Amino acid sequence: MNAVTLMSLCDDTLLCNFPKCRSKLCGFAWVTACSHVFCDRHGSGEFSRSPVICPACSSALSGKLDIVRTELSPSDEYKAMVLAGLRPDIVLDISARALAFWSYQVNQERMYQEYSISRAEAQLKQMEKVLNQQNQCRKLELSAMRGEISSLKKVMEEYKRKYSEVSEKLMERNRQYQKLQGLYDSLRLRNMVVKRESQPQTLRPEFNTGTAPKVTTPPRSPQFLFTDGDSCFFSPMQPDGAKPFFQLNSPVKENVQPFLKKP
Ligand SMILES: [Zn+2]
Ligand SMILES: [Zn+2]
Repeated sequence: MNAVTLMSLCDDTLLCNFPKCRSKLCGFAWVTACSHVFCDRHGSGEFSRSPVICPACSSALSGKLDIVRTELSPSDEYKAMVLAGLRPDIVLDISARALAFWSYQVNQERMYQEYSISRAEAQLKQMEKVLNQQNQCRKLELSAMRGEISSLKKVMEEYKRKYSEVSEKLMERNRQYQKLQGLYDSLRLRNMVVKRESQPQTLRPEFNTGTAPKVTTPPRSPQFLFTDGDSCFFSPMQPDGAKPFFQLNSPVKENVQPFLKKP
């Protein structure tokens, strides 16, 4: 036994051996022949029954000196008298037995602590194992989700591509439609001009009221101007007959443009 162990043995106080008590002993303690020790509360409770059985190891304690209630901090008077008159070998024998008891208790406590530590380590390892497994599962889930996201992105790209193709086609169709609309408008315009020139003395519907009709011949034939759709209005003849029609296309285009805008 080295010096450190001896010092720790002297510094320590023993703990009650009653299951799950483990309170530090002070005042009086109950010591048994089977090398167990109990606090005053558990000792007085357990050893007042019959038959007397050690609560720690279940040994039968029937002998007269099998259980002793000991004062842990005896007075100087007691220390002076308790071993006085005994032969040195008996004094040493008593001391050796008392030290063996103490040593046994400290070893038991050490073994208990080691067992607790090893149990805690095993629990820790088990928890680490479980956590590692959970971590692995999460990693797998994460990689599966990432795969799903990338495949969804691919699908989205495909849809975007198709959408832009369709938009392109739609724009092309619109251009064709505008062209046809222009052709149609110019044909209609020419048709009207031709009709008006073939009947030069017609009445304008606005002036055809209840009063006596007043035939007016405008200095020049009015010309239809088309904005969009079928709406039209009278307008004085432009110096260049073909020009107004070509100006009509621009407002229609402006109306179409927002629809063709990509999101
Ligand atoms: Zn106790
Ligand atoms: Zn015992």
